[in-house]
Amino acid sequence: MTSYFRGDNLAENVFRANRDSIIKWLKNLTEDYEIWAPARERFEILEEPEKISLEYENTIIPPKEIVFPQTEKLMEFNISNNEVRATLPESRKKVIFGIRPCDARAIRILDIVFRGDYEDPYYTTRKNGTVLVVLTCNEYCEEGFCNATGGSPGDSDSADILMTKLDDESFQIEFLTEKGRELGFDDFEAAEKVEPELPEPEYTKNLENADGWLSYKFVSPEWDKFARKCISCGICTFLCPTCHCFDITDTKNRRIRTWDSCQFSEYTVHTSSHNPRPEKVHRVRNRVLHKFLYFKERNNELMCVGCGRCVRLCPEGIDIREIVESMED
Ligand code: SF4
Ligand code: SF4
Repeated sequence: MTSYFRGDNLAENVFRANRDSIIKWLKNLTEDYEIWAPARERFEILEEPEKISLEYENTIIPPKEIVFPQTEKLMEFNISNNEVRATLPESRKKVIFGIRPCDARAIRILDIVFRGDYEDPYYTTRKNGTVLVVLTCNEYCEEGFCNATGGSPGDSDSADILMTKLDDESFQIEFLTEKGRELGFDDFEAAEKVEPELPEPEYTKNLENADGWLSYKFVSPEWDKFARKCISCGICTFLCPTCHCFDITDTKNRRIRTWDSCQFSEYTVHTSSHNPRPEKVHRVRNRVLHKFLYFKERNNELMCVGCGRCVRLCPEGIDIREIVESMED
């Protein structure tokens, strides 16, 4: 393992760096880590650090797919000789570089799901040794409402390293965990911490306590109003950084799991063919209540980080904030 820090900097946590030294840092890191960085619509393995984007608008596909891929093989089997073999992913040290605060918080929510009562070895193998380098947002993204769900554009929740753009020339880099400090870099200058000015949100309602009013709204005519518009495409769930439902399919010689969506009518069909959520309105209601009520009842936090993707990308313009708000008396 390469040591990136000068010895006398080990006690320091806050540094200043310009774009060139960040690129140099990334080049060094690629010797030991697989670096994932924003590229067009999603995070990809960084091939050319010179082309790194440090001002990107958040990706359409959230970086959850790095630790929970859309499709993955769980096992291989040979029916003729009863051979079964689990196919765990290769364990690689990774850096998710430039992940936005909301998406980093979402990965902690996935940890609760996949490493809670039952530890999912596929998720754990991918997640172990992953360092999150979070990039503070200098402005709110379109329809983003992290502030309403307990986050903020400068949220360091889940960050191993927090990077903040201070001006055209410089970034503040804070090493917040031991895992993050292993990535320290000689070229960075130790500096006094600056509290950057955060942007003002457009959406100012606080939805953190929405469970209080939603718990009385299982039956409400409002659900129908929104469900009528929904075309059950599933985009809001596939592109949500916290959604984690999957289906398992067996083929002749392997078992795979694939993202699934609670917005699909087959999602809850039992083997008996009974469907406890037969109507679209039941499914729309379930998505909202899972995020703002049920998950909070179980884990004391929302399952929405306010990234705004479902609002921005729903083809029917359905806004989850409007649904939650409309239920408040
Ligand atoms: S993205 Fe919109 S239309 Fe598609 S399932 Fe979600 S709420 Fe319905
Ligand atoms: S529910 Fe919508 S706004 Fe909330 S985390 Fe999921 S995609 Fe983002």
